[in-house]
Order: sequence, then structure tokens, then C-alpha cells
Amino acid sequence: MKIVLDAGHGLQTAGKQTPDGEKEWTFNNTVLLAAQSKLKLYEKVELLRVDNSTGRTDIPLKIRTHHANNWKADVYLSFHHNANTGVWGDWGGVETYTFDGNGSNSKAEQLAKLIQPSLVRAMGLRDRGVRKKNLHVLRETKMPAVLIEGGFMDSRSDIEALRNRLRLKAQGEAIADAVIEYYRLKKKPSSATTLNTSRTFRLVTGVFLSKEEAVASADRLRKEHGWTVYVKEEF
Ligand SMILES: [Zn+2]
Repeated sequence: MKIVLDAGHGLQTAGKQTPDGEKEWTFNNTVLLAAQSKLKLYEKVELLRVDNSTGRTDIPLKIRTHHANNWKADVYLSFHHNANTGVWGDWGGVETYTFDGNGSNSKAEQLAKLIQPSLVRAMGLRDRGVRKKNLHVLRETKMPAVLIEGGFMDSRSDIEALRNRLRLKAQGEAIADAVIEYYRLKKKPSSATTLNTSRTFRLVTGVFLSKEEAVASADRLRKEHGWTVYVKEEF
């Protein structure tokens, strides 16, 4: 199961930003990373990212779709956020796009129909529906392709959700969930998935009334176990 992930644009792309100058790629990237972390937990999933993962360059659309076609991807997911006029307004909502013309459209449309309702729930924004548009990444890809517009960057109401990292994470996970459901992906055995490097756990051993005693205990733990131990003063 080869899945292409595409965060639209790059940090330098002119015009693709909120009226306050927050870049579209940053929102797209946060959603992509959440989808990627979730999809990684599933068996037989291979992921290929076709944008520049640092955002420094805006990879041309031709190169993005060329990579996807060359790799013989099974599905193409393009993450975007909308803008209407570029100045704050009262419009808003989320939408999922597909396009007729590459023979894979019925699959893309079924997938889009799974994505859209969970996208609405994840972002808590207006439902603008599943739509069709003649866009390069939808037209020039030889596999089912969907493009997600996760809210308007120049909407006074949507921007709250866009600035909320938990919402963007939920958006990415919602999109991943739709892919998981549509392609009936199976989760990897749990032993392989418990290694979660984004969380750490601190060992707390005790409270001492004198610094000397605390330092001596820390030394003992260091020597006996090779642990990293430090003494922190509390007030
Ligand atoms: Zn875009």
C-alpha cells in the first residue's frame, strides 16, 4: 500500500498565507505529519512525501505528480488550506476535492466521501462538501487522488481552528482514518507500536531535607545503574 503525502506549496510561496502572514505550508505540514504518524502504525504501508519536508522550497507540481506516478503509488493525499480574498472575512468551511479524468475517480470519490464528514468533525467547521476541480495533482496523477482544504486561512472563524495544533492533528488523523477504513488497513502488532518517541517519562525517587544527602543518593544511583540522575532544588 503506497501512500503519497503532499503538503501544498512551500514557506516562500507568495500569497499562500493568512492576512497575518502565517504560511499555508505550515498548516499543511502539521496535518501531513499527524496523518503520517498514524499511517505508520499500519501494516504494509509505505509512505512517500513529495513536498519539501523543511518547506524551504516549493517543489513544482509536475515533479510531485511525476514522483507519485513513477513510484506507482496507490493513493495521493494533498493537504491544503483555503483563502478567499486574503483579507479577513466571514466565509469558512472545509472541502475535499477529486477530479474526473484519470480513470481512478470512483475510488477517489469514495475515499473523499469518507474523508469529508470526519474532516468536518475534526475541525468543527462548516461542511462545504465533496467537490470536483480540475487541479494539477488530481488530473496528472495515475492513482486515486484527493485534495483536502482544511479551512479558510482568511476566515475570522476558521482561523481559530487552524491556529489550534490539536485541531490540525485531529484533521490529519481523520484523513488517515478514512484511508485506513477505505483500504481496510491492519494495525501492526502492538509491540511495534508502543515505541513512541514523542513521550518521555521522568523517574522521581524521593525528597531529601539536606542537599548533601540528595547528592550522595544521586551519586549512588549513577554508580550502581549508570543512570542520568540530577538533583533539583524545590522551594
Ligand atoms: Zn493550497
